[in-house]
Amino acid sequence: MTYPPRAGTVPLAVVATLLWHGAFHAAWGEPAASPPKKSIASTCNRAAFRVIVDVGHTAEAPGARSARGVTEYEFNLRLAKLVEQSLIDAGFGKTVLLVTEGPAMKGLVHRVTQANSAPADLFLSIHHDSVPDAFLEKWEYEGQERGFSDRFKGHSIFVSNDNDDRKGSLLFAKLLGKQLKARGLQYTPHYTEKFMGHRQRVLVDADAGVYRYDQLIVLRATHMPAVLLEAGSIINRDEELLMGSPEHQSLISAAVTDAVEGFCAARRPRNPEQVARKPGAAAKQTLQPAAAKQPANPAKQR
Ligand SMILES: [Zn+2]
Repeated sequence: MTYPPRAGTVPLAVVATLLWHGAFHAAWGEPAASPPKKSIASTCNRAAFRVIVDVGHTAEAPGARSARGVTEYEFNLRLAKLVEQSLIDAGFGKTVLLVTEGPAMKGLVHRVTQANSAPADLFLSIHHDSVPDAFLEKWEYEGQERGFSDRFKGHSIFVSNDNDDRKGSLLFAKLLGKQLKARGLQYTPHYTEKFMGHRQRVLVDADAGVYRYDQLIVLRATHMPAVLLEAGSIINRDEELLMGSPEHQSLISAAVTDAVEGFCAARRPRNPEQVARKPGAAAKQTLQPAAAKQPANPAKQR
């Protein structure tokens, strides 16, 4: 499977702008005498607001494997880069792409350490979903036997009650869920089912599709509001193709960006002194160089 390196940034910005304005649509129908609504965008200092976009897993321990044999890490890296670009295009110049290397557990610890060492207002971990092995069926793709499950589809959002900023995490998770929903995307409800065993989760917001996953290291050990997005199921044969499409990736990136804007507007700046800094000084940063190599180990580890 091949993918374009990056979706057009201009259309992304246009879509984001249109949808952002759409949020105020309800206000347009009000009588002319109504006082103008205060734009929430005006309370958000985008240039001072730092988002860490975490690429789930590592090249060495790449997470799940898709129905066609592509690693989750490849999907995560591609989508996270688009999210990063979308945020930067929207004025969030301090956005950081967090790419981690190494074996699974070492990578997790390193990831959290890196995140906590870069003062940030929000941590968003990008993942793609699979299923427990018991649900896997076999099929042949390009001459190779592969595992798949078309039983579930849709995204899901996770927060940890053990995070230092539980309220902030939940707020962003809800905003993100609502932005995805506004674009016609449905979350997967199957995490509430008993058959998920130790992966069963509590659905804390049935409208936005937000689940609790207290034990997740990247959510509980990070010192800023932290949310994990399973953007879609790549073990589902149709959804894998969807997740590989630039249009769908743009849709998700725009949803994240609008959710970040809403979250930024609802929060006070982390460090008010940074507000005074000139926006042009905010440069794109990468904590670790992207090292997308061929995976060696398909272990499922967030
Ligand atoms: Zn993952």
